[in-house]
Amino acid sequence: MKRIGVLTSGGDAPGMNAATRAVVRTGIYHGLKVMGIGQGYKGLIEGNISEMNLSSVADIIHRGGTKLRTARSEEFKTEVGLKKALNVIKVFGIDGLIVIGGDGSFKGAKELNKKGIKAIGIPGTIDNDLGYTDYSIGFDTAINTVVDAISNIRDTTTSHGRANIVEVMGRNCGDIALYAGLAGGAESIIVPEEDFSSDEVCKKLIQGRNRGKLHSIILLAENMLNSYDLAKEIEYKTGISTRVTILGHIQRGGSPTAFDRIIASKMGARSVELLLEGKSSRVVGLKGNKIIDIEIDEALSTEKKFDKEVYELTKILSI
Ligand code: ATP
Repeated sequence: MKRIGVLTSGGDAPGMNAATRAVVRTGIYHGLKVMGIGQGYKGLIEGNISEMNLSSVADIIHRGGTKLRTARSEEFKTEVGLKKALNVIKVFGIDGLIVIGGDGSFKGAKELNKKGIKAIGIPGTIDNDLGYTDYSIGFDTAINTVVDAISNIRDTTTSHGRANIVEVMGRNCGDIALYAGLAGGAESIIVPEEDFSSDEVCKKLIQGRNRGKLHSIILLAENMLNSYDLAKEIEYKTGISTRVTILGHIQRGGSPTAFDRIIASKMGARSVELLLEGKSSRVVGLKGNKIIDIEIDEALSTEKKFDKEVYELTKILSI
């Protein structure tokens, strides 16, 4: 192994830069040449590749987004696109590839591996929707962003005696809503993994009102229902003025938390070591306090488990 490539792919996540930095510096430390591939698989197909040195990753550990930039590439999913990518890998003499992204990006790495390219995946997605790892890079920063937003929203909600529905990201995973809801003291948390009843939400609002509560935060995971329709329904059923805040892409940005930087640094370094050990088609992750690595297929088929205990706890704490 002499020359490795690194790319970030799919949705960006705070901490991707810290992971890139760890890959580049660990690689150079071990005497490897490290090639930075811009814009994920799109850049791989287009040959958007340049050698990185120690300074290429200076001053980025604390920055959100990804310096390598990211993209989604439909072309890469086709036979023709894959062939182009393989050709570029050959032309640039890349012996191993590190892919920082979510499950889609891992599938791409698997396809390359099937064609004989050594590839290792690092989980970078704010959604925390990968079942094989406790945390993906970016999740901790995202929930901290949501918790900060809840604090701001709570101020104005209290002043006006309103309720506020805060819609958060997660695609089909309720982790952002669940953990930000727990940390932010939300009155109700609506996630795709659990049945939802608007009557329950309303009952809780009324109970809170009756004991003098001035604010109510309802955390809603995206892609479930229309927030504005829910707000109207709540107002109609409870008489409590209800506003909607859709946090959107602010959850994707911002300086990564120390936790995200730490796991990104550890995972980045480990992924290079795996390539040096001759391993391939594996992804790194975090289980408990340990960095682990498992086969990509096994990672992709590990079902994401929703933490029901934490969900029940949020209900108890918001009575
Ligand atoms: P996020 O969870 O943040 O969206 P992701 O990695 O899951 O990240 P995707 O858009 O699903 O994001 O995938 C990123 C890229 O990976 C795609 O644009 C495509 O180029 C490649 N990819 C996805 N699925 C496959 C697949 N089945 N085969 C080959 N390549 C794939």
